[in-house]
Amino acid sequence: LVHVEKLKKSFGTLTVLDGIDLDVAQGEVLAIIGPSGSGKSTLLRCINFLETPDEGRIRLAGVEIDAGRHPGQRQILELRRLAGMVFQSFNLFPHMTVLENISLAQKRVLTRSQSEADGRSMELLERVGLAAKAKEYPHRCSGGQQQRIAIARALALNPKVMLFDEPTSALDPELGLEVLSVMRELAQDGMTMIVVTHEMHFAESVSDHVMIMADGRIIEYGPSAEIMRNPQSARAQRFLNAVR
Ligand code: ATP
Ligand code: MG
Repeated sequence: LVHVEKLKKSFGTLTVLDGIDLDVAQGEVLAIIGPSGSGKSTLLRCINFLETPDEGRIRLAGVEIDAGRHPGQRQILELRRLAGMVFQSFNLFPHMTVLENISLAQKRVLTRSQSEADGRSMELLERVGLAAKAKEYPHRCSGGQQQRIAIARALALNPKVMLFDEPTSALDPELGLEVLSVMRELAQDGMTMIVVTHEMHFAESVSDHVMIMADGRIIEYGPSAEIMRNPQSARAQRFLNAVR
């Protein structure tokens, strides 16, 4: 479903992605872990062109973009619509209710009517366990609730893949667990997911594959149990020992 080929990205003289190849099948969960500064966020942002790669190719559900060929805005928007993104900071609109937050893009992007959008939003709020918060403003919700609302908002556009960038790292552990359990359910429902995470337990227990990055390269990739228990490279062993 997701295919990334020879992706490269530099900021000035700093090479942040040094030729990344990856494939994620329909319904698969890929966890990306690795030390700070290794390029994990940049990779995720390049996959939906929030950051423009210097070189490489991305294919997502039939939409293919070659970064070297100066893709047009229309192609980029098409790609972006297929990928729902959830960030560390929830980025909800503070002046809108929870329901309005989730309905907005459905009206703008999918041209759904107000009632159609609100209906879908309520379904999604129920799915993340927050139907009771529909009429609240975001600041009256806990961090864990806000992140679950952000997940519902991303799901509202019917993405083919969900991209998560450390969705729990701004949260207290307990609130993080609420979010992780919503993500686990999403995975069980067959959503294709790429998750940058510091949660080693999540990487080991929910994801199908784990990729370890260091210095803009993939240093380890494989079935999650294998990678987490028995990494081959010394660099990956060092990283896992340090975080566990
Ligand atoms: P963390 O675990 O801390 O989130 P990361 O693996 O997500 O780290 P990135 O955010 O992808 O790392 O950053 C990789 C490198 O690229 C870092 O050295 C960072 O300083 C640099 N970088 C990221 N974005 C930019 C930018 N817009 N301009 C310049 N340098 C950047
Ligand atoms: Mg990051």
